[in-house]
Amino acid sequence: MSIPTHPRSWVTSANDHPDFPLQNLPFGVFSQANSNRRGGVAIGDFIFDLQAALDASLFQGAARLGAEAASRGQLNDFFALGASARQALRNELLHLLDAANPQRERLQGMGERLLLPMSECRMHLPAQVGDYTDFYVGIHHAMNVGKLFRPDNPLLPNYKYVPIAYHGRASTLCVSGTPVRRPNGQTLAPGADQPTFGPSKRLDYELEVGVWMGPGNAPGEAIGIADAGRHIAGFCLLNDWSARDLQAWEYQPLGPFLSKSFATSISPWVVTAEALAPFRSAQPARAEGDPQPLAYLFDAQDQQSGALDIELEVLLATAMMREQGVAPVRLALSNTLNMYWTVAQMVAHHSVNGCTLQPGDLFGTGTLSGPQAGQFGSLLEMTEGGKHEVQLPSGETRRFLEAGDEVILKARCRRDGAVSIGFGECRGVVVG
Ligand code: CA
Repeated sequence: MSIPTHPRSWVTSANDHPDFPLQNLPFGVFSQANSNRRGGVAIGDFIFDLQAALDASLFQGAARLGAEAASRGQLNDFFALGASARQALRNELLHLLDAANPQRERLQGMGERLLLPMSECRMHLPAQVGDYTDFYVGIHHAMNVGKLFRPDNPLLPNYKYVPIAYHGRASTLCVSGTPVRRPNGQTLAPGADQPTFGPSKRLDYELEVGVWMGPGNAPGEAIGIADAGRHIAGFCLLNDWSARDLQAWEYQPLGPFLSKSFATSISPWVVTAEALAPFRSAQPARAEGDPQPLAYLFDAQDQQSGALDIELEVLLATAMMREQGVAPVRLALSNTLNMYWTVAQMVAHHSVNGCTLQPGDLFGTGTLSGPQAGQFGSLLEMTEGGKHEVQLPSGETRRFLEAGDEVILKARCRRDGAVSIGFGECRGVVVG
């Protein structure tokens, strides 16, 4: 029998769980039938109910303060508390749920109140999002898409100086599992000189990571890059649904508008910086000849350990595949190491002009494609703008999404010497 080198949990389904072992402990907002929304923590196949734990007086001090904020129907107050309350709560949860906890029998006795089967709970958006900003830091996506429009000059001159972004719509953020309605809009058919109005014919997904903001800054006060990590509350998966035909017609000169604002799906669990600490990495070196970041975007520590090594996956299941019992097919496998800018650089840049970031604001990283086939985070890239078909195991083909198609995003962290953790799923079925 091998001796476990990492703590295990008395919640046995957590041990070797692909997403939620003891080492993850992500926060989320859930409800049961006929109950209010409240905060919980994912552990194995269960949700640890923070309100029930508070009722049982399981927390003291800073951990109690954190648990009170995290037990509400939205996590904004918890995000506002910042890293110290979050770490105090996490440390207490690690202790409470540890198989070696001397109180485990007492806690197991409370099991039905403390631990709710995840399959019997409904997940909600984790926070009320004041502002949502979508970046464009996936350099291979920027290259792949740039090549479609400007083969000789795929990257615009600002890309290697500015973490490019646009302001998205918080109003249409939705939690995983919410159906996504095909948007209507204006499109210009190839060769036409007048647009027509109707449903998008080029509906696509974008594989992104979401970044939740913590305490934030006062108006006019920039967040320095060395301080940026303190303002990041956690991470999720994000699908920036995109209507490519609407986008092509509307995006100049101010950027995307209705092609993006109809829906953005996110995974419900907020994976903390603490859980991701073992999967930090050096920011990949810039290509020879690339400029160094300007001083306000450069921090030696951030370059040394500010990147994340998270494996990202896109899967597709069509209605026919589900009927035939065919498993979802993988369309892409990529990684957050494809980010040209770190999340700290995104925070520093966003606030450098004095723009306020508030607890519960959300960033998207931008599509995180790799450089090669099999690593592309959108159909636009896979089909080179609709030129080629993607073959599916059901015999069907796709250039863009069709009614009934379900897109599933997953993320997983693995590294020698660390317990693997995952993000859960971000799902959405296309309607219409
Ligand atoms: Ca995007």
